Amino acid sequence: MRIVVTGGAGFIGSCFVREVLGGEHPELAGAGVTVLDAFTYAGRIENLAPVADDPRLTVERGDIRDPRRVAEVLDGGADLLVHFAAETHVDRSITGAADFVTTNVVGTQVLLQAALDAGVGRFVHVSTDEVYGSIASGSWPETHPLEPNSPYSAAKAGSDLLARSYHRTHGLDVVVTRCSNNYGPYQFPEKVVPLFTTRLLDGGTVPLYGDGLNVRDWLHVSDHCRGIVLAATAGRAGEVYNIGGGTELTNLDLTRALLAVVGVGEDRIERVADRKGHDRRYSVDWSKIRDELGYTPRVPFDEGLATTVAWYRDHRSWWA
Ligand code: NAD
Repeated sequence: MRIVVTGGAGFIGSCFVREVLGGEHPELAGAGVTVLDAFTYAGRIENLAPVADDPRLTVERGDIRDPRRVAEVLDGGADLLVHFAAETHVDRSITGAADFVTTNVVGTQVLLQAALDAGVGRFVHVSTDEVYGSIASGSWPETHPLEPNSPYSAAKAGSDLLARSYHRTHGLDVVVTRCSNNYGPYQFPEKVVPLFTTRLLDGGTVPLYGDGLNVRDWLHVSDHCRGIVLAATAGRAGEVYNIGGGTELTNLDLTRALLAVVGVGEDRIERVADRKGHDRRYSVDWSKIRDELGYTPRVPFDEGLATTVAWYRDHRSWWA
């Protein structure tokens, strides 16, 4: 079995690659993995260090917006393509949206077309719950309309719908996953958990947006990867699967949890002006993947947060 993983040097993609090659997913045992990654600021070869010597791993530098390069990498086909590559930081999409459109939308279309041309067996498009917008109460089922509010989530929604269109129009075997917020090791320190953790470890303060009451569901990255493996191996073609079931917290509660793990007080919180267009609350209904594919999250939040902070403490050279 050959699996192509775009964005496999990033936070979630590298977790997926380390776990697959590390034998944590029996469904994919023995698979060869080809990583296709442009190595932007968010993609780092060090993220694959634990599996660097595995002969089943091939790393290809390439931009998903480049049809020739993508066709080269997909030459010979693949049983499975898992598409993680994207521009992912909402704040960056507010100050400059162009790369978000070209990578997330155009790059995904290039990849879908190349997968169709190369006869890829299944295309898993890794999307996000942010495509749904913001929800005051209750949770989004997969059938909820897409109402993205940031340039990041709008570009992800565009790619999500392109993936659907290649299934409907061309019959490409596509599965889309929409996951809630991830945390864990190897996450670039621009996102809230690693940003706050590294600042606290450095003795600094943490910038909390607005009133701190925006709510997110926090899921350990390894639970997300298990959901993706289930969707990839047992999901139905053309379907969307929400992945969630982490812990819903306000940003203030998340910050307090981090302060407690690091062992410092609330004087380290610095209130800053809110993010433009800041979605108030995200909440996915993940009963479909639970009932159809038997997914349940495994990592308790307190334990996951403690091991994540410990990882940043022990890997200062990775982020310093
Ligand atoms: P990340 O920013 O850590 O990694 C993105 C990877 O894509 C990097 O390795 C980068 O080099 C690569 N990349 C960027 N542009 C590229 C291009 N043009 N060509 C080839 N490679 C390119 O992102 P992440 O947090 O690991 O997210 C991975 C995927 O999961 C994204 O599609 C994201 O939308 C989705 N997702 C993320 C979360 C989350 O909480 N982080 C939640 C749900 C869904």
